[in-house]
Amino acid sequence: MKVVSTAIGYPYIGENREWKRCVESIWNGHLTEEQFLSDMKEMRLNHLRRQQSLGLEFLTVGDFTLYDRMLDHAAMFGMVPSRYGWSGGKLDLATYYKMARGARDAVASEMTKWFNTNYHYIVPEYEGQPLQLTNNYLLDYFMEAKEELGLVTKPAIIGPFTFVQLSKGYDELSKASFYLKLLPLYAQVLQQLSDAGAEWVQVEEPALVLSLTPDDVKLVQFIYRQLAQEVPSVKIMLQTYFEGPSCFEELSRMPVAGIGLDFAHGGKKNMASLTKHGFPKEKVLGIGLVNGRDIWRANLAELAVDIKAVVSLSGVNEAWIQSSCSLQHVPVTVKLESDLDPVLKNALSFADEKIVEITQVASYVRDETWYGNRSVSESILAIQELARHKERKNEFVRELVTKVEPEDYRRPLAFRDRQPLQQKVLKLPDYPTTTIGSFPQSGEVKRTRKAWRNQEIKDDAYADFVKKESARWIEIQEEIGLDVLVHGEFERTDMVEYFAEKLSGFAFTKDGWVVSYGSRCVKPPIIYGDVQWTAPMTVKEVAEAQALTSKPVKGMLTGPVTILNWSFVRDDLTKAQVASQIALALREEIRALEDAGISIIQVDEPALREGLPLRKENWDDYLAWGVQAFRLATGSVKNETQIHTHMCYCDFNDFIEPITALDADVISIETSRSHGELIQSLKRNPYPLGIGLGVYDIHSPRVPSIEEIDSILDDSLKVIPKEQFWVNPDCGLKTRKEEETIASLKNMVEAARKLRQKQ
Ligand code: GLN
Ligand code: ZN
Repeated sequence: MKVVSTAIGYPYIGENREWKRCVESIWNGHLTEEQFLSDMKEMRLNHLRRQQSLGLEFLTVGDFTLYDRMLDHAAMFGMVPSRYGWSGGKLDLATYYKMARGARDAVASEMTKWFNTNYHYIVPEYEGQPLQLTNNYLLDYFMEAKEELGLVTKPAIIGPFTFVQLSKGYDELSKASFYLKLLPLYAQVLQQLSDAGAEWVQVEEPALVLSLTPDDVKLVQFIYRQLAQEVPSVKIMLQTYFEGPSCFEELSRMPVAGIGLDFAHGGKKNMASLTKHGFPKEKVLGIGLVNGRDIWRANLAELAVDIKAVVSLSGVNEAWIQSSCSLQHVPVTVKLESDLDPVLKNALSFADEKIVEITQVASYVRDETWYGNRSVSESILAIQELARHKERKNEFVRELVTKVEPEDYRRPLAFRDRQPLQQKVLKLPDYPTTTIGSFPQSGEVKRTRKAWRNQEIKDDAYADFVKKESARWIEIQEEIGLDVLVHGEFERTDMVEYFAEKLSGFAFTKDGWVVSYGSRCVKPPIIYGDVQWTAPMTVKEVAEAQALTSKPVKGMLTGPVTILNWSFVRDDLTKAQVASQIALALREEIRALEDAGISIIQVDEPALREGLPLRKENWDDYLAWGVQAFRLATGSVKNETQIHTHMCYCDFNDFIEPITALDADVISIETSRSHGELIQSLKRNPYPLGIGLGVYDIHSPRVPSIEEIDSILDDSLKVIPKEQFWVNPDCGLKTRKEEETIASLKNMVEAARKLRQKQ
């Protein structure tokens, strides 16, 4: 059997985020276009050289981008929305970046989550326009690797089904003509690549792992029959990832030369499919077992055994040993992490280390040499050592978890009965107004925090600064006339990192960056040990703010599911187990806030909705533990204490049931993306607790008028009873400017006041 090592994609940001700097330099005018393009090319070639030096046999191009791959495809096919005023021909860089980031006269394209990852892609817009191949950038990338490095690579393209599925602007009717225009362009791209000497093309179809209708499957069959007919000379590796494909049987019969499967995330499903349907011997099987979504070192013995199992089950003649998905979802290399605990560091594996794992395991499979091999025993030892790490198993936490009783998930009284008790304490007017938590983080706030982090200013001076900023905003909020105030979150850069730094069980990398969208990178914390609350995390700031006003100040926490979903999580416990540890830690913090006299506590869960599994059949399980974790965190409070939660980033249409199950007294929810739909779904499915539908979009500097807010309030009042009604913006205000924030909130408060008068 032939065995080939390959990766589906490699991080393009570079180990020092040099890609980000380069992209931002052209935006700022610090680089000429020529210099920019040549720097980018150098990076691409370097990434290939690097993977080659790590021993990878078959290298991929087209995993690189100047901003986002979906945008690259839209640009390649001339799918440029008319508002950018492009007149055809080769797409210029300025228009490309306008599509990504907007311009004064044209709003940016929408951005949304790439499947269930924390990466966000640009949503291509189909306007019914004629499509054209503006520039086959994949051919450029293929040629430069061939000419400069003498490599015949595998270009990676996002498949037509996934591309259309993730685009917008078409309906069932225009979808057909969209495809009719698009498919010939795909064929042209493939033909040009084939003519230039590409033997294989990696056609990525992650959308095949979603729930598909029979019509979808027929469409996929049509697409690949068509491409095979038009370009018989190229071999297609039809690559799926993030789950097992929904239509394995049909896939295995398609006229493609190879099928790539993710065994790290769809292992069970894929094994079941292979058992049931077998695998066509003439096709290559891409075995994605090295996990591209986590950062943990693989047990090479287990990996080799698992791959052997797949190989013998499928009976293939050629297997590609590869990552489960693109490695862009993990940082570049562990090597830079000089400050990490050595035991933890030794058990980590980022992109470079994963590539080494791929090459090692490929050679074991090829030569049957894994047994007794040194790298195998090293990998096992590293994992065993981490398992013995003192942070890994905290007896106190383990015992705490076992002591959880069913009533710990429940507030003593139902909402209806605790609401009057809360009102007695809070004495809020009808239509109470509030904000989501953060206030503008001015240049001064950011500079001061940075200086403190660099130890240029002392702890006391920093705490003092935060306190003053918070006091200033308490005054501003009183002046505006808000009913429930916040301290403003000036001490936080990031809503997860802030808590992760204060809880035990978390570690932080120095350079463990991954792209979140465009040039924005994030450095997720690593949950490697048991999570324990050790000391109050938020009490000082909130209590200080509360001392300055007679209005209630909300305590502000990030919920267990959000902390979990925005971190890299240990893989020896289930997510549900880790979530309940975080929940118990937050429960402790909530108790501390209550003890400090705080009567409203908000636990944000913006990631609850976005963390939903890709396929509906797995939703219940996820929601069950997610909701339980929230309830475990908040269930211990007095009846008089009001629990708030907040959600955003998503469409909440049809999400009423899960948010009801949280049993939070009040939810504030982003609606700018789906106001109309949400109102409709609240009509069908009334929400029984307190709720504030965001009255204005905080992503824009625009100040909403009172009339605008009025009309949103009117709409919302049609589906939400007065006693449950709250008035708030869509989300936190940390990215906004002070003047616009104050002006917008004044209008919001005025609109609520008018509403009270009307009644
Ligand atoms: N309380 C947080 C804030 O206002 C919530 C942020 C979020 O929902 N993403 O910034
Ligand atoms: Zn939000």
